[in-house]
Amino acid sequence: MANQVVTSEWGEDLIQIQIPLPNALKWVNSYLVRGSQGYTLIDPGQHTADALEAWRAAMSELSITMQDIEQIVLTHHHPDHYGLAGWFQVQTGAPVYMTEIAHAHAQMMWGKDQAATAAMDRLLAHHGMDASIRAEIKDHFDSFIAYVSPQPEVTYLEQSNIRLGDREWQVIVTNGHASGHACFYHEASQEMLCGDQILPQISPNISYIPGSDLQPLQSFMESLKMLQAYDVTIAYPGHRHPFRHYQERIADLLTHHEERLVKFVELLTEPKTAYECCLAVFNAKLTVHQLRFAMSETLAHLIELERRGLVRAEENTEGCIVYKKA
Ligand SMILES: [Zn+2]
Ligand SMILES: [Zn+2]
Repeated sequence: MANQVVTSEWGEDLIQIQIPLPNALKWVNSYLVRGSQGYTLIDPGQHTADALEAWRAAMSELSITMQDIEQIVLTHHHPDHYGLAGWFQVQTGAPVYMTEIAHAHAQMMWGKDQAATAAMDRLLAHHGMDASIRAEIKDHFDSFIAYVSPQPEVTYLEQSNIRLGDREWQVIVTNGHASGHACFYHEASQEMLCGDQILPQISPNISYIPGSDLQPLQSFMESLKMLQAYDVTIAYPGHRHPFRHYQERIADLLTHHEERLVKFVELLTEPKTAYECCLAVFNAKLTVHQLRFAMSETLAHLIELERRGLVRAEENTEGCIVYKKA
């Protein structure tokens, strides 16, 4: 059953629409920016029947037709943001904008003959995950192709500014949660569309994916520090609700990861694989979806500890990588 659609007005021209997701995040925030040439649609959501139903309800409530959408802009390539971009492009004929790096990642994950699923499986095996769980993760991974189809023709965000509605916003590229992730900042009003780079309440997942950023936690934290330079009165995130404690939230996220790094070092009283560390830190019962993110998060932290010279990685006799205190 589709959730009741929730739309909220923010600032002078921004509409937040909660598009349902079939996981614990519950919804992704899509934003419509009103302008004299039509609406800019930011992050349309994941392609599910519930999401389409929510869009039908929202557009009817707002009296918007497909022809009113002039452009589609994506913060990043994750399926909960990118998934419906192609569907909306078919309906509207509108251009879809994202960064070139984000598009390369979309291709790598869901392009024709993609090799990401096999590479992920090899990585997880190398880090000690059992074959039966890996098989579940593999199926889960492949199930996302339907959530992002049809895929859009993309125009790259190449300028340092983009017009959203009638206002010029600065494009700020961040990394760590998703490579080539774009935030959009409007200086005069101190508004920031921050995608998933900064979320209230939730710590954005740090994505360690084969073939991508080798140091995602370092990249994430560096991006957060770079974002501290902006004065923000209100931030519009990809999940949960718009928030005003922007600086405080960035500081909390930086502290959270420093604390978690300490926790991982403390775990290594004896050598452990990343999978053993993952189970020890995220000990609650996890769904396959959550386990994949927990493992990615674990690897990102262990890699950062290795970079800082606090842990060492070695291959054991079974051909798995084990981490030990340096
Ligand atoms: Zn994301
Ligand atoms: Zn998201």
